[in-house]
Amino acid sequence: MSGRPDLRGMDVDELVRWAAELRQPPYRGRQLARWVHGHGARAFDGMTDLPASMRQQLAQRAALTCLRVLHRTTSADGSTTKYLLQCEDGSTVESVWMRYADGRRSACVSTQVGCAMACTFCATGLAGFGRNLTAGEITDQVHVMRLDQGEDPTHVVFMGMGEPLANLDATVRAVRLLNAPYGLGIGIRRITVSTVGLAPQIRRLAKLRLGCKLAVSLHAPDDDLRSQLVPINRRYPIAELMDACREYVEAVGRRLTFEYVLLDGVNDSPDHAARLAALLRGMLAHVNLIPWNPVPNLPYRRPRAERVRQFARVLRSAGIPATVRVERGTDILAACGQLREAHTPGRRPVRLAAAGAR
Ligand code: SF4
Repeated sequence: MSGRPDLRGMDVDELVRWAAELRQPPYRGRQLARWVHGHGARAFDGMTDLPASMRQQLAQRAALTCLRVLHRTTSADGSTTKYLLQCEDGSTVESVWMRYADGRRSACVSTQVGCAMACTFCATGLAGFGRNLTAGEITDQVHVMRLDQGEDPTHVVFMGMGEPLANLDATVRAVRLLNAPYGLGIGIRRITVSTVGLAPQIRRLAKLRLGCKLAVSLHAPDDDLRSQLVPINRRYPIAELMDACREYVEAVGRRLTFEYVLLDGVNDSPDHAARLAALLRGMLAHVNLIPWNPVPNLPYRRPRAERVRQFARVLRSAGIPATVRVERGTDILAACGQLREAHTPGRRPVRLAAAGAR
């Protein structure tokens, strides 16, 4: 790391203050914000409407996080591309770009290198925890992908590697930067943050009233089973998690999504569905069912389609809205729970298209 302040993680007010330190007027800071967060600029010398002297000062005194594309893989149907990205310190993370038939384009970003939560069905959990990503490293994943794809995302989901709420400050900052009018201006309701259920951080997020969507990974209707699948449940059991979720819904006035990965013979019976429905009764909630995506060396199986449909039917007949997540990117291990730091030494970086005007 250069030790110089990273402009990719600064909001417009901070950039205006930074410009003032260089004896530049406030509008120069606003131009800088547009370059950094709107265009996703890769270098100071491309910021053509800034004076050459200012660009030179920036190059000497500031840093600009630019992740490198080490590898990209696209699914057979062309809808999903997984990126292996490298940070300045050599750490690698994975991010995913998904294109839908209705025109939506979704960028799925990581918030940590690896993950400490150790969910037993997840590839990222197997690899252990490296470090938190900075806000600049989170937002730059979006820029790298949009520049490579040649179009902007309509949605951003914080569902890649890591537990976003274990890196809450950087996550919140990244959400604000992506939503900012001088940035990509992605609607706050089109940004989803996921959590495995860190109750105190859900409460903190509720108080911030950020307005983004929250997706809570539940995966089991009782503490015994959930503690086996999601070890953090031992610290924040279901009753405490549900209290925090109710607080969030009350503060934000928005429906929560509960993610439920279906594991054959483990948590996918009609009885599990009935108990899940009882747990969520009366709550402004929606359940997203995810038939497990295979991960090598893990002892689970994906349930048959009829079993999945039956689970959804039980929820719906109890008045709980439920959908089954459309499978995408499974063939390139880019689907939910399949991301894993997989840097192969010696891989050559992929050259990105120049960061141009949007
Ligand atoms: S499911 Fe999410 S929280 Fe659990 S180990 Fe995987 S990345 Fe971490």
